[in-house]
Amino acid sequence: MPGGKNHWSDKWLNLEDDNGVKVFQWCKSVKGNTEVAFCTLCCKQFFVNNSGFIQVKQHSKSAKHRQISDTRFGKNTTQALLSKKDGKPVEATGKSSEETSSNKTATATSSKTEQRQMHV
Ligand SMILES: [Zn+2]
Repeated sequence: MPGGKNHWSDKWLNLEDDNGVKVFQWCKSVKGNTEVAFCTLCCKQFFVNNSGFIQVKQHSKSAKHRQISDTRFGKNTTQALLSKKDGKPVEATGKSSEETSSNKTATATSSKTEQRQMHV
């Protein structure tokens, strides 16, 4: 099995998205369909059935969502990342994943999709 199937978990609600905003502040489960979640900022459903919480984060990183999120919650990504670094030493987590993910957020914006389109 390819290990792709995922579904909504209420545990995600207490996690932070990549904007430093708790997921429950903008995301809801969808009754009767655990393969999607509903964003109350964008008024939009998005799939979570592939990589699960990663897809929630991915949605939170979309330009449109960020714009609304920043307006609504008064935060932006750079502030969230900076305050995280200031608050706790990175080594305390014992995971390298945090470092790599913050590196990714710096580069993985819209440029990726542009490349894809040009790549025909
Ligand atoms: Zn959204």
